[in-house]
Amino acid sequence: MKNPAEFRLMRPATIGDAIQAFIQNDDALYLAGGTDLIANIRRGIKRPRALIELNTIREMRGIERVDGGLRIGANTTLAELVASSDLVGAHAVLARAASLVAGPTHREVATLGGNLSLDTRCVYYNQSEWWRSANDYCLKSGGEVCHVAPNTRQCFACYSGDIAPAALVLGAKVGLAGPEGARTIPLQDLYREDGADHLSLRRGEIVTDVFVPVAPSLRTGYEKVRVRGAVDFPLAGVAVALHRDADKLSGLSIAFTGTNSRPLLVEGTAALTGTHLDAVALGKLVARQIKPMRSTSISYLYRRKVASNVARTLALRLWTGD
Ligand SMILES: Cc1cc2nc3c(=O)[nH]c(=O)nc-3n(C[C@H](O)[C@H](O)[C@H](O)COP(=O)(O)OP(=O)(O)OC[C@H]3O[C@@H](n4cnc5c(N)ncnc54)[C@H](O)[C@@H]3O)c2cc1C
Ligand code: SF4
Repeated sequence: MKNPAEFRLMRPATIGDAIQAFIQNDDALYLAGGTDLIANIRRGIKRPRALIELNTIREMRGIERVDGGLRIGANTTLAELVASSDLVGAHAVLARAASLVAGPTHREVATLGGNLSLDTRCVYYNQSEWWRSANDYCLKSGGEVCHVAPNTRQCFACYSGDIAPAALVLGAKVGLAGPEGARTIPLQDLYREDGADHLSLRRGEIVTDVFVPVAPSLRTGYEKVRVRGAVDFPLAGVAVALHRDADKLSGLSIAFTGTNSRPLLVEGTAALTGTHLDAVALGKLVARQIKPMRSTSISYLYRRKVASNVARTLALRLWTGD
């Protein structure tokens, strides 16, 4: 890693000031905790001439109870999520996912907004300038070919943030603000299946907060598989939320990270409800929809199998209440 090239640093006090700073410097990038972005700048992957720091914006901080749920500011750190007394019951899955992100020092500065907006990752991309140039780069970094799938024109770099799947199974929405105004969208609409351009954020748009609806009697959990037991991105991460009504499964949501270019909310789970939990059918449904590619040093076949198995065991555990 090299020292970064010179850049201007702006420290706005409000969301409006941050957007104005972007309008005046549209070669700028937003910076939150910097645990992802600064590493990418030092690798020469990103070369902003200006950084607009978001952590100085107080209105984007904190967790509050609002009508129908919780509002969590995008500047809330992952350590604050882990320690929050508001994230109880079904919402505890957010704290659980946050607790598994990187290491304790990262979590002190890393933010919810930065985690949801994390760049996609690939073994051919998260490398030094020298390494990438020796391979003639790739589609995501200005080259002509994807080394993972050379016969395609698509990038399959993987989304690997831990919190998105947990928020997805809770039905979260995100608040956005940008030069074209403010809007609220379902979290799943923040993402698309394109490793080179996986966020649907408009130019200059900021994730300002996350709204999580109340979820009484929802049983939730998050599990992740990684190479090292600590400080590692997920090879596969799965969140499950289910409603059990006596011996009947009356609601089921499953979401993944580390398998696709977007955090994937599994479709078709309603077909599994109305009876007891069928873990075999659940495993098959998952295996059909997730698409791990050769974008990590670990076999994509292993990732597909382990993701499906973890989903099954987690759902069974929530079903039995163990
Ligand atoms: C060694 C190591 C291990 C890691 N392990 C994990 C892991 O296990 N799981 C995991 O999920 N992550 C992991 N990470 C990545 C990173 O630490 C976290 O995802 C963290 O939550 C990113 O948040 P941040 O505030 O530091 O984001 P930043 O680095 O500041 O920003 C990340 C990206 O999001 C954009 N951004 C930030 N905030 C906003 C906003 N509010 N609105 C719009 N765009 C925004 C930035 O422009 C940038 O593109 C790891 C990083 C390292 C270095
Ligand atoms: S999936 Fe292909 S284009 Fe995308 S980062 Fe990896 S090698 Fe590059």
